[in-house]
Amino acid sequence: MSDTSSPPRSPPATPRPRSPPPLTRQPATLSRAQELEPRLVRNVARVGGKVYITVNTPEGTDKVPLEDFIDGDEFTDELVCNMVNDWNSTAELHPDTKRCCLFCRRRARKSYTLCGVHWDTYFDAIYC
Ligand SMILES: [Zn+2]
Repeated sequence: MSDTSSPPRSPPATPRPRSPPPLTRQPATLSRAQELEPRLVRNVARVGGKVYITVNTPEGTDKVPLEDFIDGDEFTDELVCNMVNDWNSTAELHPDTKRCCLFCRRRARKSYTLCGVHWDTYFDAIYC
């Protein structure tokens, strides 16, 4: 004789997800953040030998020369700074690879990312 009015107690059948659930999208907050922080780095291009960084702006995208991210001897943008640090370590790891100066078409010094012309101007900012 079974008692159907009281089902056996079992844990709820919802399996625990192994990965955290996807972040809830908050469009309003997101667009506000983009307005406040227009300089999200998208990619890098060389124009006339110089490194330009494509950034997001409220109007779309814009190409900004690398030196515009340098104020005195430091970078104004952490992402850009990290990118430069990556290039520097790559140059150091592969000193014999031919590479151009970050600021012109000239050949960069061996295991560095700067040519002789831009060495004095940008060394402190690039290697700090
Ligand atoms: Zn140069």
